[in-house]
Amino acid sequence: MSYEIDPRGYYGEYGGAYIPEMLHANIEELRSQYQEIMADPSFQKEYNTLLRNYVGRPSPLYLAPRLSAKHGGKIYLKREDLNHTGAHKINNTIGQILVAKRLHKTRIIAETGAGQHGVATATVCALMNLECVVYMGSTDIERQAPNVARMKMLGAKVRPATSGSQTLKDATNEAIRDWINNPHDTHYIIGSVVGPHPYPDMVAKFQAIISQETKQQLLEQEGRENPDYLLACVGGGSNAAGLVYHYLDQNDVKIILAEAAGKGVHSGHSAATSILGSLGIIHGSKTLLMQDKDGQIIEPYSISAGLDYPGIGPLLAHLISSKRAKVYSATDQEALEAAIELSRYEGIIPALETAHALAVLPHLNLKTDEIVVLNLSGRGDKDLDTYIDNIDTRSNFQ
Ligand SMILES: *Cc1c(COP(=O)(O)O)cnc(C)c1O
Repeated sequence: MSYEIDPRGYYGEYGGAYIPEMLHANIEELRSQYQEIMADPSFQKEYNTLLRNYVGRPSPLYLAPRLSAKHGGKIYLKREDLNHTGAHKINNTIGQILVAKRLHKTRIIAETGAGQHGVATATVCALMNLECVVYMGSTDIERQAPNVARMKMLGAKVRPATSGSQTLKDATNEAIRDWINNPHDTHYIIGSVVGPHPYPDMVAKFQAIISQETKQQLLEQEGRENPDYLLACVGGGSNAAGLVYHYLDQNDVKIILAEAAGKGVHSGHSAATSILGSLGIIHGSKTLLMQDKDGQIIEPYSISAGLDYPGIGPLLAHLISSKRAKVYSATDQEALEAAIELSRYEGIIPALETAHALAVLPHLNLKTDEIVVLNLSGRGDKDLDTYIDNIDTRSNFQ
């Protein structure tokens, strides 16, 4: 079984580039050049220097002693929460802005749901002095006011998408429309391993720094590169793709993914795409997505804004359907409790997205000497209001 992308841009039956004719030239320009650009030594040097001196990499690999005592095994946390801007998303936006510069683009567009990708994009545009326009659904602009303020502070223009449900998919449509109208000077930075080929492959390769560092750090700390388990939460799938990238062919390493069950997988308020989804086309990619019988997208729901994407990246769909990866889902309540647990046990407040991965730990039934690397994809500062509003004072964690 191959987990590499094929020359046509597919992982198994998932992927490809299902795009309107008017986007063909933009996508083809990127597709024909991204590999050469990324392999260029001057690109590598600039990318790695920024990751070190601007983002703060390598991120630590931390053996969490009290969490391990609670759940068994040796649980290591890959600390992407310590990156500049507080999550893994900056690994990708740094990479893509350097690609955009080499394609001589002067203007950047992006779409954002919760605003995290918008902030990571606005950050690198400020760094490189490029114009930045972020599309965001009007509903999300209201819900995510602090991130809207951050983007504005960084000099980005935030444009509301007012059609449909006024959320992420509407913002995506607006961004695509913009790109069609501005093909020459504009690069579209997609925020996860989703979208038409070559985006899923390009984003996975920028996030692969996570597994590259993990191998070396685990070798130093444990005398072996391979853990028994890798565990990550999945929205579109970019932090998971980065964590597993250099381990895909190591069959002794089990891959565990955590999806958002919302109020329960079958409650009608869920984002568990791998269970509720079926094959279709979203955002230019053939993959698993939540759709009704007419192919209309079903709005996903999760307490965590970063996980309520109605699709899943084609690499992840392939890993799941080929049984290379196993999926568990965690409800809002389970994620909240796991977030409180990590805060009280280790002094680390995780992002709500990451908390879904933490909530899966009890399901692994770890043996004493088994090693888990859990991708701590982001920090919880952005979620404090949600945590405070939801902490049940009668819980065990008073
Ligand atoms: C955006 C986000 C996610 C989900 O996106 P992926 O592409 O699936 O990684 C997970 N964790 C955090 C902290 C995020 O900001």
